[in-house]
Amino acid sequence: MDRRDFIKSSAIGAGALALSGCHREEQTEQKGTANIIKAKKVTLKLATSWPAHFPIMGTRVDTFAKRCSELSGGTLEIKVYPNNILVPALEVFDATSAAQIDAFHSGVYYWKGKNPAFSIFGGMPLGFTSEEMITWFKFGGGYELWRELYGKFNLYPLIGGTTGPQMGGWFKKEINSLSDLQGLKMRIPGLGGEVMQRLGVNPVLLPSGEIYTALERGTIDASEWVGPALDSLMGFAKVAPYYYTGWHEPGSILELTFNKTRWEKLSPQHQAIITAASEEMTSNMLQEFRYENAKAFQQLPDTLQIKTFPKEVIDAAKKALNQVLLEESQKSEDFKRVLESYTAFEKLNKPWDDISTKNFLEIRG
Ligand code: CA
Repeated sequence: MDRRDFIKSSAIGAGALALSGCHREEQTEQKGTANIIKAKKVTLKLATSWPAHFPIMGTRVDTFAKRCSELSGGTLEIKVYPNNILVPALEVFDATSAAQIDAFHSGVYYWKGKNPAFSIFGGMPLGFTSEEMITWFKFGGGYELWRELYGKFNLYPLIGGTTGPQMGGWFKKEINSLSDLQGLKMRIPGLGGEVMQRLGVNPVLLPSGEIYTALERGTIDASEWVGPALDSLMGFAKVAPYYYTGWHEPGSILELTFNKTRWEKLSPQHQAIITAASEEMTSNMLQEFRYENAKAFQQLPDTLQIKTFPKEVIDAAKKALNQVLLEESQKSEDFKRVLESYTAFEKLNKPWDDISTKNFLEIRG
């Protein structure tokens, strides 16, 4: 074959290839178009309990919405409304239950007033880490119970991220003994708040936007929030110079919850996309929290005092927690059932965790 023939045959070959490529693209395009035509465009309104684009907790919701659009070829649009735009931060549960909005992103422990059992889904003081919580939900029966109990409010919950271990909070005064806790007003939600109450603290529930001012004005004496990454942005170090290590939220779960009727009307494809995108959000949020907390921890001001609660306080907290769990179980059949499921996984998990993760971390030092 001379050079001219080669060019000629190559050109024909390339042309044929291009044609066949074109043909395949057209087919794909047609198939794709057919799929897009089949899938009805759905728009869901999702309200969060966080300010607009709030770092990690909020931005991960923005990314979740973007991923749902990408994965669905634009047929699933999730419009994210930060707190107080459509509904106030702590009314997203009721608004979704009543179908005023389609979904919400928030912290599960805010809703213990609806059913005390919900606080266990949010996380247990001195209990499971984030990884253990997720394992309990997926494999230990947690999801079944959560969906059954949220079903009574016409809600369908998914895990919407998790924070990893949280810090114990910012205090205006040093805590050297149990007596230093007496009468202290502290922003601390969930079961941690109930335990603190037994130790003499007045727990208050405040949304994120109101904590700094309350601390600055002395309306509250202490507040927990999340960890160094988010706490630093709130400027708490300026108004509360003691930062205590955590015990009450070792692995808090955030939720991505849908109106159940609305969820059931979604196509299986859209349900699968939301579920996959929520899992992606959960794992990315946990990793991002770890990384950003590690970075922010190194940048905390030198004037700040990092403290661990005295043993007396932690021992009293353990005792109070057991009392709270016992009393709540006696008052609420739901609480008892959820706690039994949680405890069953704890018993299964602990011997292996002790010999694997805990042992390894001790060896690693
Ligand atoms: Ca917290």
